[in-house]
Parts: sequence; structure tokens; C-alpha cells
Amino acid sequence: MAYEKHWADNEKINAVEKQKLEMDGLEIFDHIPRYAKEGFDSIPKQMWPMFKWAGLYLQRPKEDGYFMMRVCIPSGILNYDQVVTLAGIARDYGRGVYDITTRQAVQFHWLRIEEIPDIFARLEKMGLSTAGACGDITRNIVGNPLAGIDPDELLDTTPIVEELFRFFQHNKDFSNLPRKYKMSVSANLRNASNAEINCVSFTPAVKKIDGVETKGFHLKVGGGLSSRPYLAETLDVFVRPEQVKDVAVAVTTIFRDYGYREKRTRNRLKFLVADWGPEKFKEKLLEYIGPLPEKGEEPVKEWNAGYFYGVHPQKQKGLNYIGFNVPVGRLHADEVLELARISKRYGKGEIRNCNSQNLILPHIPDENVEPLLHEEIFRRISVDPPKFIGYSVSCTGIEYCNLALVETKERMRRIAEYLDEEVDVDVPVRIHMVGCPNSCGQRQIADIGLQGIKMKSREKKGLVEAFEIHVGGTLEGGGELNRKLKGKIDGEHLPAVLKAFLLHFREQKHPGETFHD
Ligand code: SF4
Repeated sequence: MAYEKHWADNEKINAVEKQKLEMDGLEIFDHIPRYAKEGFDSIPKQMWPMFKWAGLYLQRPKEDGYFMMRVCIPSGILNYDQVVTLAGIARDYGRGVYDITTRQAVQFHWLRIEEIPDIFARLEKMGLSTAGACGDITRNIVGNPLAGIDPDELLDTTPIVEELFRFFQHNKDFSNLPRKYKMSVSANLRNASNAEINCVSFTPAVKKIDGVETKGFHLKVGGGLSSRPYLAETLDVFVRPEQVKDVAVAVTTIFRDYGYREKRTRNRLKFLVADWGPEKFKEKLLEYIGPLPEKGEEPVKEWNAGYFYGVHPQKQKGLNYIGFNVPVGRLHADEVLELARISKRYGKGEIRNCNSQNLILPHIPDENVEPLLHEEIFRRISVDPPKFIGYSVSCTGIEYCNLALVETKERMRRIAEYLDEEVDVDVPVRIHMVGCPNSCGQRQIADIGLQGIKMKSREKKGLVEAFEIHVGGTLEGGGELNRKLKGKIDGEHLPAVLKAFLLHFREQKHPGETFHD
């Protein structure tokens, strides 16, 4: 169904909006086969930004013609054939690099335009796609990585996430949103999907309706990080599972039709929600979908930040899920193939990505747990990682990202390993590193958030890589964004400064006291 682009007459809309009026982002899929035949030089520069709708960004430097590709993985759940296919793409085209993102997706690097059609064909065969992985569109829908196996979940959200994802992914009614649009649906009682930092989130809730205890969702809107971070506001509504799609469509329609399209830095849904407030937003929502009951009870117990290390019983008797650490979310294709082999040998072959950039192997029968844990690969991909490497998150950074100001991924790994040798703490300290204010590494919710900047150096000529330090972020109890400490630290001195800071924390704390406490 076509919709009226009422903003088309607004002269103040930004340049990206003007380009989106000329060409829908999803149309890039029609052009890619031709560019693949004719080569990178045949792609007009003005078309480069449109590749985002196909999950493709040009790596740095753009002129070299290498692409980063992000593949959508709703709730992070992959079957054996899908994992093997993804590993094959990383091995055959991506120099072996396989990155797990903070939205449960997978990223490849070093791809050439000539290779993209074959990669798309391989993904399509497996029911996977890159559509909407980037761009001003509904992004990968994050969810409970334990959906369907979680002994604590209120309900299995797998079919809901799948339905929403399929509805929005190639839908040209919703492919021209004012800005990126992030959705989460989870019934995990530990807020594994980081509800408060999404544009729209469905979170577990229960309510007595006509005397019957009913399971469903609460609705949060207007969260998002980047340079002006907001935590999502809860609307006073209760949503039954069968209403989720209609409510999601209504919220997305409101964003599409009322979201700002002028200054690009104010185009996310969070700015509309901040201006309207939750009451007005709810009123508008009900205009679209009719009455909804008021909020019920929230059964969420705590926030686990997406960490599931160790062996845990599933809701299915005799089966277990096992959470492993992937240092800063980066695997080699050979490791992914080995993990797929192990998951199939001892379980069903499934692998689930977490938004902490780690993974879970589910469906492991009791008797297979010990033999699985003795596999060689789990010396690096640890089930019980040290406190710093186990709780470090990093964005892509200057290695591949055009917006990055500093190197992040390898630096974060090196620093975490150094801290594990130098500082012995009894609680995890979550450290997130990002290469610019865009916050793909979600630094605002970290115990210690490290944001890359450039600064003048006294000793060296020109600008050097440096970091701002932000402390005290959490999504526990409704959430709190971390706060910036005064000053900035030269990247070279960062490990030593963090060591001193964390030794001080260790000396001051009581046993068991966490960084946020
Ligand atoms: Fe690039 Fe910035 Fe995102 Fe890091 S946070 S991946 S530097 S855009």
C-alpha cells in the first residue's frame, strides 16, 4: 500500500531525505547485479550511501572499494546450515573475519562488489538477508537469545520476532523512515535485549484481564544512544502477544509520518518521544489501533547485560544451554566452522548470538556437556572467562569504519588481557569501547565507557588517539547512563590509567560489591 510522503514539500528536509525521495533505499538491490558486473568504478558516488539499505557500508578508505556487510539475525538465533553458510562467506570472501555485533547480527569485511551477488544467493538459500541491516529502516530485531529454551521466559517470542522481521524487512511502506529504527521483543526476565536503549521495545508483562492472568508485553518507546542518549519511556498500555505486530506497525507509522526529517542529528524516534512525552505518544498510538488495557505487572527480575556464561538447564528436561565468551566479538571463519561442528556433534547445531557479542550453544544433553567442554577451541572461546576480557565490548573502530576516530577492537582486547593480568577483582567490570560518538559499542550503558577522540599531544606533533572515560552506566532498575569524567587520556597511557583506577576500585569496595553499587 503506497503512502503519501507528506514531507516531500518541506524545503528544510536534509539532503539524505531529498535523495530518499528520489530513490527508495531498498531499490539498491535492483542495481547491485549490474554494478557487480561492471565493477566498483561503475557505481556513482552519490549511490554509495544507498548501499546501507542492503546492509553494506564502504570500508575505509572508501575509494578502495571494499565493503562491510551486516547480516540480520532476528534474536541472534542461527541453525547449523546458516552458521556454516556465514562462516563460508567470511572464509571465501571476507579474509576470515567474522564479527558478532551488539545487536546479535554478524558482520563481514573486505567484500568486493563483484562478490555480492554470490553472497546474497548463499544467504537467500538459508533464509538470511542483509535488507535493513543498515539504513533508515527497521534494523535487525533483537530479542531473547534464549527464546524457546529459557526456563524463566514469560513466553516464547521466536514466532513474534520472526513475524515482525519478515513483515518489515523488505516492506517499502517502511523503508523510508526518518532515521535508523531499532526494535526489540523479549520475554526474558533479565532484560537480555537491553530494552531501554531501543527505539521501541516489547518487554514482558502480566495483567489480569476479565479475571484471567494474561501474559503479554509492556511497550517502551524513544530509547537510543549516540551523542544525545535517551532511555526509552514506558507507555501506559498492555499488549497481548497477538497484538504485537499491529502495535509495532502503528508505532513505526507514527515515526515515519511524524518523525523529524530536518536536522539529521535530530531524526531518531527518541527526539519525537522527548518532545511529545509518553502521554501524547500513547494518545496517537491509540488513534491508530484503538483502545489497549493499561499497564500490568512487570516480572523482570534484574538486568544481565546479555551475559550467559556457564552451563544452564533449559526448560526442556535433560538439555542445557552453554554460554561462551568471544573476545570483543571477533571470530575467525575456521573457528565458526569448528563451533558449528561441535554444536552439531553434541547438540542440534544451533548457535545463538548475544548482544554482549558472545554466543550460546543450546540443546546440549546432560551427558554431552563434559565432552563438549573438553574441546580444544574452548581454551580461547571460554565458558568461564577472566573478568575483563569476559566483559569487554568493542565497536568496529578505525580498522574498517569511516566514522571512527581511533582504533578500538584490538586495543580493547589488548587492554582487557592486560587488566586480567594486573588487576584481580571479584566482580565483572563491563568495559565498552567505541571509536566515535555513534556508540555502536553501547558505551553509555557500560560500567566504564571509553569513547575515542582525537587530541593534541604535547610530546608528538599533530593529533593523537585519545579517550574520554565515562563511568556508572547500567540498565538495572530502569537504567542510568554513564557520566563523563573530567579530561581525556592519550591512548598510549589508557591501560595504565585504567589499571590504577581499577586497583583503587578494588581497594575501596566491599566483597561482592559491584562497580555500579
Ligand atoms: Fe564506527 Fe563510531 Fe560505530 Fe565505532 S561507534 S563502529 S567508530 S560509527
